[in-house]
Amino acid sequence: MSNAVAEAQETTKRAFQDTFESPDFYQIDDLLTEEHLLIRASVRDFVKRDITPYIEDWAQNAHFPYEIVRKFGEIGAFGPTIPQQYGGGGLDYISYGLIMQEIERGDSGMRSTASVQGSLVMYPIYKFGSEEQRMKYLPKLASGEHLGSFGLTEPDHGSNPSGMTTHFKDMGDHYLLNGAKMWISNSPHADVAVVWAKNEEGRIHGLIVERGMEGFSTPTTHNKWTLRASATGELVFDNVKVPKENLLPGKSGLGAPMMCLDSARYGIAWGAIGAAMDCYESARKYAAERIQFDKPIGGFQLQQKKLAEMLTEITKAQLLNWKLGKMFNEGTATTAQISLAKRNNVEVALNIAREARQMHGGMGITGDYPMMRHMANLESVVTYEGTHDIHLLILGAEITGIPAFK
Ligand SMILES: Cc1cc2nc3c(=O)[nH]c(=O)nc-3n(C[C@H](O)[C@H](O)[C@H](O)COP(=O)(O)OP(=O)(O)OC[C@H]3O[C@@H](n4cnc5c(N)ncnc54)[C@H](O)[C@@H]3O)c2cc1C
Repeated sequence: MSNAVAEAQETTKRAFQDTFESPDFYQIDDLLTEEHLLIRASVRDFVKRDITPYIEDWAQNAHFPYEIVRKFGEIGAFGPTIPQQYGGGGLDYISYGLIMQEIERGDSGMRSTASVQGSLVMYPIYKFGSEEQRMKYLPKLASGEHLGSFGLTEPDHGSNPSGMTTHFKDMGDHYLLNGAKMWISNSPHADVAVVWAKNEEGRIHGLIVERGMEGFSTPTTHNKWTLRASATGELVFDNVKVPKENLLPGKSGLGAPMMCLDSARYGIAWGAIGAAMDCYESARKYAAERIQFDKPIGGFQLQQKKLAEMLTEITKAQLLNWKLGKMFNEGTATTAQISLAKRNNVEVALNIAREARQMHGGMGITGDYPMMRHMANLESVVTYEGTHDIHLLILGAEITGIPAFK
């Protein structure tokens, strides 16, 4: 970290006081167990101590705080639903959702780091990996000793990953991997990558690629206006020799990475509402303090309308998340149900960030308040893990039985 970043962090930390409490207008906390509430409280404390005092400087300086990886490991943010024997938390999906909500209340980039590691790296190794692969990789990923990334998207294949051209050849005692992945969260710092590539028959498989393998590089993507505290990059494979034991044996075909995306999209549905709550809380407090025309701006009907609509949408999304979590726990949540929640909640969060920004007037454009950062972050969240329109098409196909992707 540069001296300038370190100094700026110290100044901000001294001036900063995070008093966040989540709105609970429908007593949804009554639906949570004691364990859920404890987990939420401990992650909230962590975010107040280790993320919110610094996040503005990290984001302004496009700095990925690598030390957060170990800290996430310590609080159990990596793979909370993975069984404990592999280093995971052995928790249910509502706990997982609450962890994502609290972390994204701090910042979507921080939540991206955690949900890629848990849902897109640990989950496929747990679900489709051999016992040897689980024992070799999962404990180090869970503790934060290792950071992972997930390579599906390519320069020419984003919404349509089935067209991917990254491929591998069976060379007898190893596979030879060639191709490139783009827009990969965590890639510049990743120790391992779960990479989706086609074999000679055109069938998609998952391969575990490790940093240090010859021909494997991870260039950083610069100049992002969004998720600036999260590291994004490419995965480039130039004749990389991948040991045969690094192929995930349990499942092949596009369905395998899609199962991972279901789990990650679920985390996003919760996380986005964390960002929305942060914006709402900031607007609610500002409306009480900011005086114009001799009274708090919260006394004007136009501002009250904004706050009332924010609370309404947050409350609906909280109920959606809780019910989706129950269905995840029971193993009945479908891809289309997950699409509905991801699509709805990210849109809700983006709208709330914009409205809350306006309620802060000029102050809203500065880093003294979190809305601009959340709003910019959410522009990535609305695009990754299936764009807003792709989720609409998933729902359209579910409703009509007619896929409209092509
Ligand atoms: C910050 C960030 C981090 C990311 N992290 C990862 C990661 O860790 N791993 C990973 O594999 N990927 C990652 N992604 C990639 C992300 O999932 C893709 O950007 C996303 O799937 C969209 O692909 P694309 O960018 O190629 O857009 P395109 O697929 O080119 O889409 C462009 C536009 O066309 C629309 N469109 C596409 N097809 C249709 C259609 N059939 N009908 C109507 N409209 C359509 C889309 O909705 C979109 O609006 C990340 C992206 C970002 C921005």
